[in-house]
Formats: sequence, C-alpha cells, structure tokens
Amino acid sequence: MVTVNVDFKACKSSAMCCIEADDVFSMDDKGYLHVASDIDESRREAVELAAELCPNRAITVEP
Ligand code: SF4
Repeated sequence: MVTVNVDFKACKSSAMCCIEADDVFSMDDKGYLHVASDIDESRREAVELAAELCPNRAITVEP
C-alpha cells in the first residue's frame, strides 16, 4: 500500500492531483479534497506525479 499525506493547510483546492490520479484524490462539492485510504502499490507512480504537480507542494508520498 502507498501512504500519502496531504498538508491540508497548504492545499488550495486546485484539483491538479484529482486530474492526475482521480481514483486517489477527489474533490467534494464544497471544494474539500478527499484522499483514498487504501492505495494500491500499482498507483504509486501516478500519486508521485500528482505530488510533483501540486502547485502548493501539499502532497508527500512515503517511500
Ligand atoms: S494539487 Fe495540491 S493544492 Fe491542488 S487540490 Fe491537490 S493537494 Fe490541494
């Protein structure tokens, strides 16, 4: 499993991560980000790319 941490104070709801890995990151209709709890190892690359693309550097992926 992949462990993902989001700094919700840094997150500005740009939704870039949702575009990159929509099975992991999703935005509710109030603009709050939700992160899946059980992230399969096969999604690591997509999650790492989402972390790189986050304009606020709010996502960290544990090695
Ligand atoms: S890309 Fe970053 S700032 Fe945008 S919603 Fe995702 S975690 Fe938040």
